[in-house]
Amino acid sequence: MQIIKLIHGNEYERYVVRLGDGNVVEFSDNTRSLRDKHWVVCIPTQIGCGVRCYMCGSNQIDFKRSLLSREMLNLVELAVGRQGISPDNSEFFAVSFLGIGEPTLNINEVLSAMALLEKNWPAVRMIISSAGVNCRQSISLLLQAASRHNLGLQFSLLGFTDKERMASVKSNIKLITLSRIAEIGREFHSITGRKLYLDLLVKPEHRGKIGLGEEELGKIFTPAEYFHISVNIGSKFGNAPGFSPPSSDLVRKWFIALKQKGFEVAYHAPLGTNDVGNNGCGIVTCPQLAADLTTTQKFR
Ligand code: SF4
Repeated sequence: MQIIKLIHGNEYERYVVRLGDGNVVEFSDNTRSLRDKHWVVCIPTQIGCGVRCYMCGSNQIDFKRSLLSREMLNLVELAVGRQGISPDNSEFFAVSFLGIGEPTLNINEVLSAMALLEKNWPAVRMIISSAGVNCRQSISLLLQAASRHNLGLQFSLLGFTDKERMASVKSNIKLITLSRIAEIGREFHSITGRKLYLDLLVKPEHRGKIGLGEEELGKIFTPAEYFHISVNIGSKFGNAPGFSPPSSDLVRKWFIALKQKGFEVAYHAPLGTNDVGNNGCGIVTCPQLAADLTTTQKFR
């Protein structure tokens, strides 16, 4: 494994690494302040993405293969080894399976990587982010894993309705419905007591539609206190053709509407300093919204 590019930002380091077989992957090491306070390493689960949804720029990269658990662990070890402190001495250390690839399509290696990570750092928190692929066995394994590990789950909604959701995928892979995601959220909450994270992509067709989407979501995702919605405002990757982000005022109104439905909400900065690129690991802060909304930290 060889680092071929390392980008330093205020709150992250972004790695481009060549693996033993010559394939290249990208991952990031993030902090909000100091790594002894808050530290999140975001790693890929596959090389290329077979789902290819509109949520991130990875939809432009063809699927090549899934990563092995040992390779995922090695990425985290690489980042940790460069920081000079141990995750055991961090108040918050998490590994997020949030980079390129769909974790549920590589579920056995992901579960094995989780076990390896816990062996190294027993207090590690883990977050799995999925587009919600229709794979009953993977979802069942994930829910079983939630009872054994300190695991957070996130699903990309991709739209306000099932029709929008299904149209947000370039591949032929079938997704589960919004209602099924809501059922999983209720089960996840009954197992862990934690909220299910929902990542909502705002696309061009949503501009000006305040008053529609939150009604739909409010009916499906009940009770609202079991769910956390983070709003992902479009893309700087040109995923959705002709996209330009809605104004912050529009987003603010939309936020307030979701909060009034009882949802905990947060925001992914589209082009902000925290957006680290294809890994999609932007942390949820927004100065315009902070004044009158209680934004919630994404990883807890
Ligand atoms: S969000 Fe996940 S499923 Fe969608 S293109 Fe990116 S890596 Fe693939």
